[in-house]
Amino acid sequence: MKYDYLVVGAGLFGSTVANRLHKEGKKVLVIDKRPNIAGNVYTEDIEGIHVHKYGAHIFHTDYKDVWDYVNSFVEFNRYTNSPVARIGNEIYNMPFNMNTFSKIWDDVITPEDALRHINEEKKEITGEAKNLEEQAISLVGRTIYEKLIKGYTEKQWNRSCTDLPAFIIKRLPVRLIYDNNYFNDKYQGIPIGGYTKLVENMLDGIEVRLNTNYFDNKDEFNNMADKIVYTGMLDEYFDFKLGRLEYRSLRFDTKIIDKENYQGNAVINYTGHEVDYTRVIEHKHFDNTSVSDKTVVTYEYPDDWTPEKEAYYVINDDNNNKLAEDYRELADKEEKVIFGGRLADYKYYDMDDVIKKAFEIVEKELS
Ligand code: FAD
Ligand code: UDP
Repeated sequence: MKYDYLVVGAGLFGSTVANRLHKEGKKVLVIDKRPNIAGNVYTEDIEGIHVHKYGAHIFHTDYKDVWDYVNSFVEFNRYTNSPVARIGNEIYNMPFNMNTFSKIWDDVITPEDALRHINEEKKEITGEAKNLEEQAISLVGRTIYEKLIKGYTEKQWNRSCTDLPAFIIKRLPVRLIYDNNYFNDKYQGIPIGGYTKLVENMLDGIEVRLNTNYFDNKDEFNNMADKIVYTGMLDEYFDFKLGRLEYRSLRFDTKIIDKENYQGNAVINYTGHEVDYTRVIEHKHFDNTSVSDKTVVTYEYPDDWTPEKEAYYVINDDNNNKLAEDYRELADKEEKVIFGGRLADYKYYDMDDVIKKAFEIVEKELS
């Protein structure tokens, strides 16, 4: 065997595993079917601005070891994600906090005022929330659900909120303080110089082949390494033999605009059905390092997934979870292959989850 490990996918999971194994003296080859490293966190320079090509990424974590690890490759800035939500011409702070509540309800000044409204509105839900709609109403009441959640969620997932699992909305904090920080985690920031630089440094000294699809030469690749680390789609690995898992895709429309400041914030969510996009990203506001008098913005459109498109989101509803479980049973029998990352685990992971999982896998592998 020429390599100890073949890593399929140069995203954050594959790159963390590769970096750690390489550090332990293992011979590693990384391949990726895309023309670039870094998977979905890839950033490319346009007008001197780090453009998040596959969707806006803000690093946030409570894991100190993960934070120290990423900071050992690049310095991070102190960016705090504080998106605003737009519906029609009204603007609200996200996530749901006292700034949001006081704008939604005219008579809200104090946390008790906000709670009075929320408690009154959430009375319509009794018992445990069975779906995303019930979860949302029991968190913030129907008024906010209808203005800031329902439209966004239906566009994002192309399903009714009554057909979606409650956990999706549990990602968003609800705070009775005037604090627009989107995340609760202790550490947060954006790599100075972009995510591509972070992953480039992680892969330093490791052989990487781009534009290389594992499935084009699966047998040949399998014969090149003692073990395979697979980070692609779980069902694709097994040639979809138990049926297809569902995914959600996105379409990005990126424009250079001849203005220094287009929307005044990195992220504006569009929560109504009057437009088809869910978010507009103005990339320069993530790191403020650009001196350009132009700006780059990306309109993000949710899209039904078909095999020729990128699978950006897994859809963890009951049917898909059950099928993923069946695939995992098959995966457990593949002695030579380690499955991991968002697509191979079929889990809605954030970046830090993926790195943490990679640490665990390497530790187990080397023990
Ligand atoms: P990926 O980045 O998808 O990497 C997998 C790689 O495998 C890809 O490069 C792919 O090309 C390659 N591959 C697949 N199949 C093959 C094959 N057959 N042959 C060769 N290569 C293959 N997380 C956060 O923490 N904060 C955020 O703000 C945030 N924002 C997000 C916004 C969007 C729009 C999306 C979609 C995700 C966001 N995430 C965010 C989640 C984050 O992107 C993921 O947790 C992380 O990037 C997953 O890393 P991964 O290595 O598992 O997967
Ligand atoms: N969400 C919403 N309104 C918003 C932002 C998010 O209703 O303005 C809901 C929506 O259901 C979305 C979920 O919260 O799918 C999680 O949002 P987040 O921004 O965490 O998801 P991401 O797309 O960044 O993974």
